[in-house]
Amino acid sequence: MKQSIKFKTGFFLATILLIAITALSALVLFNIRNYQRQEFERTLMERGEIANDYIKQTYLMESIVDPQAFIHTRAAALVKRFDLISGLRVVLYDRDGEIIADSRSYLPTVAVEKMMPYALDGQNVYVQRGNTVHFLTPLSNTNQQIGVLRYDDDVSAMNAFYGLMTKRLMSMAGIVFVVTLVGAIVFSHPLTKGLAQLTASAAAIEAGRPKEVVRLVRKDELGELSEAIWHMGETIARQMNALHSEQDKLRHAVDDLEAMGQHQKRFIGNVTHEFRTPLTVIKAYADLIQMYESDRELHGEAAAYIQKEVSRLSEMVNRVLRLTAMEHYDFQLKCEVLNLGECLEVAVQHVHGKAQHRGLEMIQAFEPVCVYADREAVMQIAINLLDNAIKYNRPNGRITIRCFEMDQMACLEVADTGVGISESEKTAIFEPFYRIDQSRAGDDESSGIGLALVKGLVEKLGGQITVEDEVTGGTRFTVRMPIA
Ligand code: ADP
Repeated sequence: MKQSIKFKTGFFLATILLIAITALSALVLFNIRNYQRQEFERTLMERGEIANDYIKQTYLMESIVDPQAFIHTRAAALVKRFDLISGLRVVLYDRDGEIIADSRSYLPTVAVEKMMPYALDGQNVYVQRGNTVHFLTPLSNTNQQIGVLRYDDDVSAMNAFYGLMTKRLMSMAGIVFVVTLVGAIVFSHPLTKGLAQLTASAAAIEAGRPKEVVRLVRKDELGELSEAIWHMGETIARQMNALHSEQDKLRHAVDDLEAMGQHQKRFIGNVTHEFRTPLTVIKAYADLIQMYESDRELHGEAAAYIQKEVSRLSEMVNRVLRLTAMEHYDFQLKCEVLNLGECLEVAVQHVHGKAQHRGLEMIQAFEPVCVYADREAVMQIAINLLDNAIKYNRPNGRITIRCFEMDQMACLEVADTGVGISESEKTAIFEPFYRIDQSRAGDDESSGIGLALVKGLVEKLGGQITVEDEVTGGTRFTVRMPIA
């Protein structure tokens, strides 16, 4: 069970004080009792002496010579006389210890046989019974003991005073105990409260919530301790924050690594898949050549197919290499100020024959606008977009190619009248090897790398590429690059 320091300190102090006061009271009471006894004994002795002096004077003045006859004759008068002087019951005994006279004979007799031999032997002796003290003093005339005188003294006032003193001292001890206990509790309350707050602060640090540490404003050891704990909390909070941010960085790095791993796996899977088709065709024709060695016509046809597949394979390898280089190595761009229109004219010439072959009309609208870019990259972007506009167009369709300046950006736009791209696939087409439908291209030229390459190049040049539907049907790709 938890014991509060507040109560323990209070109880300890109060107990110490109680012990001190009790010891002091015992000493005081002992001294009172001692003083009372000394005073009382002195009074008794005085009474004995007064009685003896009186007896001696009376005896000398009397005509009776025999001491026993004197005492027997004068006993009643003597006890009355002593009673009058002292206000106490006085009893007179002869030399044999027998009662001769009692000033208050109506009171019950008191047995004092045990003390009598001492009194008869000339000694003063007394005994206390309750509130009454029986004092026996030897009586003598001039040269011999003639009897014993007994005084019965009431000591109730003396006992009452002693009792009262005892009670008062005990009450005082009780009051001091309670006051000390309460005072110590009240005094140590702020201390224990501060300690409780420090305990809570330490618990908060332990639970990993150092921001909850309380700072005590005190100019004592507790204040110093609180300051130390507060600084400790601050340091731990700072370290925890640093740790959390490091953890976040690490988590992001792990996520990135995982994503990169997945991407790598997908990429390798796709490359393997894409390379398998032309290789299968090449292998099939090579087998045919081997089987029909003498068939010249077949040889010619196989050679044409093998050539076509090899050039496709080589184009794919080039594209894959470019894409990989762009993703994994520091891609070196040779940037210069380029007239975009001029670049596009060259690109159009590049695909002109193909477009003509498909009966496509090509419309060009080039406004004067310059970019600071790598010529090779711009050419690849334009040729890829034009190539797609041809591949995915309808027979006798149209391709519009424009360049202009808008919002401080150089824009390159390639629009076609082809099959179009659904909304859900407008993002996916920029993924490497993503193809909507191979049959769309009209031949097997599709590899799914073109747009990924275009997007990568555009981003390397600090631009953006977007794809929208043409109002008249078809697709419009827009590339925005920083103006030179
Ligand atoms: P591909 O070699 O298949 O053309 P791309 O990365 O250039 O690879 O294009 C990805 C896919 O996007 C294509 O398979 C095609 O389905 C679609 N696509 C690209 N350009 C167009 C376009 N102009 N019109 C319609 N579909 C297009």
